[in-house]
Order: sequence, then structure tokens, then C-alpha cells
Amino acid sequence: MAKILDQPRYKCALAAMQTVQAISRALPILHSGPGCAEKLSGSVGSSGLYSPHIFPCTSISEKEVIFGGDDKLEETIENSLKVIDADLYVVLTGCTSEIVGDNVEDVVRKFKNNDKPVIYASTAGFKGNNYRGHDWILKAIFDQYLKPADHIEKGLVNIWTGIPMHDPFWLGNLRELERLVAELGLIPNIIFGHGKGINNINKIPEAEFNLLVSPWVGLESVRFLEEKFETPYLHYPVLPIGAFETTKFLRTVGEYAEVDAAKVEEIITKHEEDYYYYIERYADVFLETRVMAKRFVTVSDAQNSLALTKFLVNDLGLFPSKQYIVDDTPEEYRGLIAGYFEDLNYGIKAEAGFSSDGHEIHSEIESADFNGYPLILGSS
Ligand code: SF4
Repeated sequence: MAKILDQPRYKCALAAMQTVQAISRALPILHSGPGCAEKLSGSVGSSGLYSPHIFPCTSISEKEVIFGGDDKLEETIENSLKVIDADLYVVLTGCTSEIVGDNVEDVVRKFKNNDKPVIYASTAGFKGNNYRGHDWILKAIFDQYLKPADHIEKGLVNIWTGIPMHDPFWLGNLRELERLVAELGLIPNIIFGHGKGINNINKIPEAEFNLLVSPWVGLESVRFLEEKFETPYLHYPVLPIGAFETTKFLRTVGEYAEVDAAKVEEIITKHEEDYYYYIERYADVFLETRVMAKRFVTVSDAQNSLALTKFLVNDLGLFPSKQYIVDDTPEEYRGLIAGYFEDLNYGIKAEAGFSSDGHEIHSEIESADFNGYPLILGSS
């Protein structure tokens, strides 16, 4: 019987062009059919300079499917270089160009002496979704564009999280992590968002370490950087929300970077005092007047589901029902992520369910016994 999927929360790997669009002055060039481009053009925003709805595309048709699309790609790159002033051009392949076997690497190699870098990433939708495509694009930038650094800058830290522009909080999350890392006396380096871009990309090999704040997205990239430039990485799987996780985050990063422990505690004390002033006032209203649900469900990608679960249990004292992870997490990471959900305060464990079937998730929530009404956080 056909399985009906509703409410998909991810797109195909080609949609990871949002990773390129989140880099100021980087331009995606799609080597795909016009339908792919049309579908993706309305789905994300951009980091500012170029409209997310306007980007070069080879718009391959029957002719290229039969005779190959290499010439069309070469012509499209040439024209893009002429009419669009960007710092980095990233060719992204869709299903059709990969199925017909176009030699994208050879075409892109013809532009290797161009004064602006042109690189390519394989992002056919049949290979995976945009969570995976994000890592493939980052690895392409690291591999084809970056050169080893002639020195390592003391305190420089590259910060990575989940995919940019997939939810409304992506930039705020990055900015806040940047601020926390800077407070520790380190030098944060982020490549996404306004005011960053190619200069920040150039600094990546100079970093003392990479900091990945994400359960699984980004792991492939930081491992690649370790292999290519011998840059070690710190993997902190939980996006910190609230005092408990943020304190843990600051202590972990501080210890890894050998920041003076007294300085770390001073930063923590200052933030916790501020935080608990607000959380106590919140508790007066929502907990004492009993208008707050006691149980909660999250339906989101691993990053947001885990971050919210930790916050709602550890800081607000709510009870977790089953938490749904809808990013099609690769099998190899599922055991690890399920373990993070079982590591909550007060001995509480949450069950993590991996599913991208919205109908199934709705049915399970509808039939669950929450002993009252639950808090459901189920959209981006
Ligand atoms: S799945 Fe393939 S054909 Fe469909 S939009 Fe993505 S790249 Fe294009």
C-alpha cells in the first residue's frame, strides 16, 4: 500500500543551495532542469546581495539529456562570470545532469585560472536531502577552494551549526554562539550571514579548532577539515537554550580552549543572574497559575528537537513524551542522537522517534495519553 507523506520538513540535496546563498557574495549556478530551479527559487532567503529567486541555471532540456549538457554548463558559467559580480561561484548539479553523466568536474576545471573561484558540488536529489547537501557543499568549498594556512591564529575558532536559512532562528543562533565564544576571549569565525563571506572563508584553515554545535549535520565537514588541515574539532551536540545548557556549553568550550576557569565562571554567573530574573517571573505566571502544560512533544529536526527537549526538561521542569525527529537522520547517527535524548536532568529520559511521515506522527500524537493537554512544538 502506498505510504502517504505529508508535511515534508526537508528538501532535496540541490536545495542546499541555501548554504551557498547564506554566504554573502557567493552565487549558486544550478546545472539542472528549469523545474528544479523554479521549485527551489521560492523556498529560501539569501544573505542579502543577490535575490534568492534569481540565480543562473542551465535549464537543461531534452537536447542536453540526449547530447550532454557540458557545453550548456560552460556557456552558463561564462555568462554568469560576465554579468554577476560575485566572490565565489558554486556549480550545483541536479538529478538530470548526474543521470546523463555530464562531466561537471572537467567543465569547472576550465575556469581554474579565473580571477574569481568557480567550484562545484554534487547535489543530486536522489543522493539525499538538503541536510546532507549542506555538508557536501561545505566539503566542496574546503576541498576545491581553501589552501593550507601558513600560520595558526591563536584563539581563532570556526563555528558551525546546522543548515542556514532552514528555520527563522538560524542567524540568531549563530550570532549568539559567536557572542558567547567571543566573551570567552576567543576569536569566532563564521562564514554565514551579513558581513561575513569570502574573507571569513579564507580564515578557516588558520583556526585553532572547529566548534560544531549540532547533533549530526556538519560532522562530515569538520572531520574533513581535520583530515585536510589537521584542525581538531570540538563536537557539542546540543544547541544551548537556557541557563543549564549554556553554562555547560561555556564550561566545555572554555576547558577545551584552555580558558581560565575563573573567567568562565565569572561569565556564567553574570548571565545566570540575568536569566533567572526573567525565568522566575515567567514561573510565577505560568507554573503557579497552572496554565502551562506538563507534557510536551517536539516535531522538528534533530538540532531543534534536542535543543528544545533539553531546555523544557532541564530548565522548565516539563515532562517529555515521545520526541519526533523529521530530518531523515542517517542511520549511523541515530543511536548517538537517541542517547542524547536519554541524558536529561533528574534521571528523566525521552524517547526519540525518527520519522518523516507526518501522517504517522499526527496519529501517534492524537492517540497518546498526555494526562492533560500537551505543549506541541511542531513547526519551524
Ligand atoms: S530531486 Fe532531483 S529533479 Fe527533483 S528538484 Fe531535486 S535535483 Fe531536481
